[in-house]
Amino acid sequence: MSLWLIISEGCCELSTRAEEQIRADIVEVGRRLYAREFVASNDGNISARLDEHRLITTPKSVSKGFMTPDMMVVVDYDGKKLSGDRDPSSELPMHLEIYRNRPDVNGVVHAHPPTATGFAVAGIPLTRAVLAEVVTTLGSIPIAEYGTPSTAELPEAVRKYIKAHDGMLLANHGAVTCGNSVLSAHFKMETIEHFAKISLVARLLGREHLLSREEVERLQGLRGMYGIAAPAPVCADPAEAGLDQALCQVLEAPASSTERLVPDITSALRQASRDGEIRLTYAELTALIADAIKNLRD
Ligand SMILES: [Zn+2]
Repeated sequence: MSLWLIISEGCCELSTRAEEQIRADIVEVGRRLYAREFVASNDGNISARLDEHRLITTPKSVSKGFMTPDMMVVVDYDGKKLSGDRDPSSELPMHLEIYRNRPDVNGVVHAHPPTATGFAVAGIPLTRAVLAEVVTTLGSIPIAEYGTPSTAELPEAVRKYIKAHDGMLLANHGAVTCGNSVLSAHFKMETIEHFAKISLVARLLGREHLLSREEVERLQGLRGMYGIAAPAPVCADPAEAGLDQALCQVLEAPASSTERLVPDITSALRQASRDGEIRLTYAELTALIADAIKNLRD
């Protein structure tokens, strides 16, 4: 046997093993998405990069909780099927758009986690600097504008944010995340849903204390120290001229300590309907006025 044959056999055996592992990872991520109710019925789709010519993805019309490794579909970067008995998901163009724009990405997960999707339906992005862990890992989580599922509108909406974000909400639809592996993309989906639940509870309790701009800058420094590969820097001042969500992760993190308390307007209104009057602290009142001025400017 020639040396070349030995080398090439070694190479292909290794790549087969790598593909087997990726197929197993996709099955496992699908099982977790279904078990945690991040998807219902046949919702959601998962993909992973195999090499520079091929990626592998989940098939259409299959529950992600009950997949087997042989069900996956191998496609090229134009979406053309190369192998597999089934057809790829109709959301494949959204995955392709992410791989084309992010050479660092090796895995993509799309799901409909209920709390995060609730924020996406309400049109409320998860862009407040509230949890240190989320600031350090995902930064901000914007909402990509609504696009009809399975059409070119959805990849177009995702394109606007994907260069600077590893995760985003999809208006009136769900969420999508990416990472250097399919498992990493899945963990980011878990973080988004967890963050959405915490944000919802804080807002139901009537207020959120934001992290200061100074603290956000310190957390950004930690990204470098811990080797967290963020696709873009955090911009802690959304009002600053020239900030663009396509280029940086815009976070709401006030410089002034009096602006750090954000009252929940609906709870203030509920209180008003009970008492016939609104009672606010000085910080809550200034935050409401600042919010009203911002809305007027927008
Ligand atoms: Zn979907």
